[in-house]
Amino acid sequence: QLMDIIIHSLYSNKEIFLRELISNACDAIDKIRFEGLTQPELLEGNSEWKIKLTADQEAGTLTISDNGIGMNHDTVIANLGTIASSGTRAFLEELKAKGAAANAPELIGQFGMGFYASFMVADKVTVVTRTAGAPEEAVRWESDGKGAYTLEAAERAERGTDITLHLREDEKEFLEEYRLRTIVKKYSDYVEHPIVMDVERTEGEGDEAKKTLSEETLNSRKAL
Ligand code: ADP
Repeated sequence: QLMDIIIHSLYSNKEIFLRELISNACDAIDKIRFEGLTQPELLEGNSEWKIKLTADQEAGTLTISDNGIGMNHDTVIANLGTIASSGTRAFLEELKAKGAAANAPELIGQFGMGFYASFMVADKVTVVTRTAGAPEEAVRWESDGKGAYTLEAAERAERGTDITLHLREDEKEFLEEYRLRTIVKKYSDYVEHPIVMDVERTEGEGDEAKKTLSEETLNSRKAL
C-alpha cells in the first residue's frame, strides 16, 4: 500500500529517484570518510571518492555505485528491509496527515523520499554491497518493492554499494546519457563528490570511425 502511494502520488516527478540515490551514496561516502579519520585501515586504500552511474542498454538496468561505507547482512536488513527507519516514513506520515492538500513534490524536497523512490521507475531493485573491513561479508538484496525481499551472500571486490534498478518498460529513458546528465545537473550538481559515467564517443568518420569509452564527471561540484 505504501509503495502504491509512493509510486502514484509522485508520478509526475519520477526523476527525483536519482537525486535520492545519489544523496544516499554521498552520505555513505561521508560516513566512511569520517570513520577513516580514526581508523584509516577501514579505508583499504580506497578513498578516491566516487559515485558512478552505469546504464546497461541490453539489460535495461541503471546502476548507481559508490565506494562509501557499504552494508553487511544485518545493516542491509535494518536499513532497506523496513520502511520504518527511512526518510520515506516521515514523508509518508506528512503526506497522510495533509491528505489531498499535500503538495507531494514540495514534501519530497522537505523530507526526501529515500531509497524507495527507486520503485517509481524500477520493478525490481538489486543491491550488492559490502561494508568496510569485512571483505567476506558482501550481500545481495533484491526486491520488487511489493513487500518481500531476498537476501543472499555475494561477492564484491571493493568496499561500497551498487544499486541496480531494473527499469520498467516505459522508464527506459533513464538509460539515456543526455537524460541522466540533465537530471544530475538539475538536482545534484553541487554534490561534493564526483558523479561519473562512462561515455561513448565516436571519433573520425566512415570506415575511420573509432569508438572510445571514457569516464566523464557530470557535476560541477560547486555549491550554488
Ligand atoms: P534515509 O536516507 O532517509 O535514511 P533511505 O530509505 O534512503 O532513508 O535509506 C535507508 C538507509 O539505508 C540509510 O539511512 C542508509 O543507512 C542505508 N543506505 C541507503 N543507501 C546506501 C548506500 N548507497 N550505502 C550505504 N548505506 C545506504
